[in-house]
Amino acid sequence: MVNALWVWQTADRVLLRIEDHDRQRSRQEFEAAIVEDLDWLGFVPDGPAVRQRERGDIYSQALETLKHQQLVYGCRCARVSPYPGTCRDRGLADTPGVGLRVRFEPSVERFVDLRHGPQEQRPSQQCGDLLIRDREGNWTYQFAVTVDDYVQGVTHVIRGDDLLASTGRQLQLARLLGRREPPLFLHHALIMKSSTQKLSKSDGDTGVRDLRARGWTPAQVIARARELTERTGTESTERTGSHGETE
Ligand SMILES: [Zn+2]
Repeated sequence: MVNALWVWQTADRVLLRIEDHDRQRSRQEFEAAIVEDLDWLGFVPDGPAVRQRERGDIYSQALETLKHQQLVYGCRCARVSPYPGTCRDRGLADTPGVGLRVRFEPSVERFVDLRHGPQEQRPSQQCGDLLIRDREGNWTYQFAVTVDDYVQGVTHVIRGDDLLASTGRQLQLARLLGRREPPLFLHHALIMKSSTQKLSKSDGDTGVRDLRARGWTPAQVIARARELTERTGTESTERTGSHGETE
């Protein structure tokens, strides 16, 4: 939630996208909570919300782009990261019960995070061939957001530090999809519910609700959001490994 606040007052357009790509987990109450919290903060998005669950045709089209390049293969494995490539050469057909992965040849993805500075990531080592649709037929988070950012022409992605490690794989995927100019990224510090407990988005926890319940005003929440996006000092540029391994 804080991601939107940082740019809201300066951006040309701010889009609201409901990331309900996972049909089993998404809940309508979550969407209602987001809209209500934004309203409380005084923000009105430009145009109607885009819902990932209504964008199947767009994701299928993106899948075709990858298939044309012979980059997609079927996979029956449980989720594991990094994926060792078990099904790479098994020739599994795209049938119900079979997941889909995109081949990630070794690459070094370099980008400048607007808060952390220069970054270097190696997706083929971090996550292996990226899962784009799971065995239940759900498009994955990584695939859906990368397609949406491209198709919607998103220029700035502001999100929590837990997704910093996902950026390299999204850059690699975006390139395979044909995107020439990647978006700029800023990864902000996370609001913690307590010193040990992270917010759980699947619980419909936007972070704002909690602060509001504790008596924060909209101005205080926005000020806090600004703090969380302030530049870090000299953070290490190498961010591989298990940090934030959302497949
Ligand atoms: Zn497999």
